[in-house]
Amino acid sequence: MEKVFFIGAGPGDPELITIKGKKLIDQADIIIFAGSLVNPDVLAGRKKDAVVYDSAYMNLDEVMDVMIPAVKAGKKVVRVHTGDPSIYGAIREQMVRLDAEKIEYEVVPGVSSFCASAAAVKKEFTLPSVSQTVIITRMEGRTPVPPKEKLAGLAAHHASMCIFLSVGFMDELCTTLKEAGYEGDTPMAVVYKASWPEQKIYYGTVDTMPQIVKENNVTKTAMTMVGGFLGDEFELSKLYDAHFTTEYRKGTD
Ligand code: SAH
Repeated sequence: MEKVFFIGAGPGDPELITIKGKKLIDQADIIIFAGSLVNPDVLAGRKKDAVVYDSAYMNLDEVMDVMIPAVKAGKKVVRVHTGDPSIYGAIREQMVRLDAEKIEYEVVPGVSSFCASAAAVKKEFTLPSVSQTVIITRMEGRTPVPPKEKLAGLAAHHASMCIFLSVGFMDELCTTLKEAGYEGDTPMAVVYKASWPEQKIYYGTVDTMPQIVKENNVTKTAMTMVGGFLGDEFELSKLYDAHFTTEYRKGTD
């Protein structure tokens, strides 16, 4: 029996899918893709007779009702998720169903939108002396967040933060950041559709971002980033410090 492949399609630019992911899509008989976010261009090389399903219009049962019989019939099935499937991809619930059917699967990672957003603003999340930690989270919206992971608690760390699925709650988000001790002038960036031709970057601060997002009508498909890493003050790394000895290189004193 064939395996199911869960594939990270990357953030949008069809050249940002892995070679492995693209090869599997190009060989697939059945393609189920998250059409609300995955760029359909990543499917451009598919076989002429490949059958394509857009999971935006399907519930879990409907997805599995396509996937399971197809694999059992010896078809090559790929499930294409946006960015990297491990982040808000809802892949575990599909895997549980495949386990129950004794169907094997593999995951092919992808470039997550938080990486594409850092690339868009040309910044490093782990800036020496500023932050060595990246927090990936989202605001509580229609789906809950565990109580210990509420934004206010996470924000207390002042780590570099990437807030998914939350651009529509910018007022509340920035109020929470301030309550958690962020200065109003802490830099923020919102990247709309990172790596797509229509990509837009909005720079602001905890004080100004709600207004900026409102004025520009950014309501979805955007990454919100906050933290000192977006600023210009930091120390140079030890890794490339001329005086610092590493496993590969002897320091100069
Ligand atoms: N698995 C995906 C995330 C899916 S959740 C990943 O790894 O990126 C969907 C959320 O991801 C969106 O609401 C938005 O916050 C973010 N997102 C997805 N694609 C994006 C892009 N190209 N640019 C900015 N944010 C994006």
